[in-house]
Amino acid sequence: MKLLVGTNNRGKIAELNELLTVLPVQLFALINFENISDVAETGKTFAENAILKASSYALQTGFWSLSDDSGLEVEALNGAPGVFSARYAGEKASDQERMLKLLAELAETNDNLRRARFVCAMALSDKKGEIKFLAEGVCNGTIAFEPRGTKGFGYDPLFIPDGYEQTFGELSSTVKQKISHRARAIEKIMRFLHTFTTLELDQ
Ligand code: IMP
Repeated sequence: MKLLVGTNNRGKIAELNELLTVLPVQLFALINFENISDVAETGKTFAENAILKASSYALQTGFWSLSDDSGLEVEALNGAPGVFSARYAGEKASDQERMLKLLAELAETNDNLRRARFVCAMALSDKKGEIKFLAEGVCNGTIAFEPRGTKGFGYDPLFIPDGYEQTFGELSSTVKQKISHRARAIEKIMRFLHTFTTLELDQ
């Protein structure tokens, strides 16, 4: 059984590869294909964008495809950066620049409310571009006052998951892979794949 992991984000690829090792599927990355067009993330929700990506990558490659769209929602910023998490400080900005912008915005709100959540929507498309399953995972926490730690990617050094005092940048990847938004969405996808026993990704 073959499955394309439809993302170019290296942090996500590493996490998804690890999370999906228990599945009896052969994983492919977009890098294995030539001339794949990027998918414009024009959706208003994580789910809409995950569907756009999974469907388009399946149609472009002819493989079953799994894509996620994820991001950080901060309560004091009315859910921002949300679906714009990757582009929050401009298209070419670094993770560091995005984190600094977020801290600056939070300082300006003059609000101690630093509750936040990571959200991940994950869509599974068959090779014809039809979505067969959609799952969402959430991880609640708070935003730290400065970036801490170098593990993970994106906003990880700013995010303290509930039940811990360290950020995802400081916690081991084993902890993140148990409780993250992506791990929770993948858990549902895996349950679907296991129970849907007649599913043949080759067909
Ligand atoms: P997209 O889903 O490719 O549009 O990008 C999502 C963006 O949200 C990433 O580039 C990160 O900035 C952020 N993000 C999503 N998941 C995580 C995570 O697990 N840790 C840290 N940042 C994340």
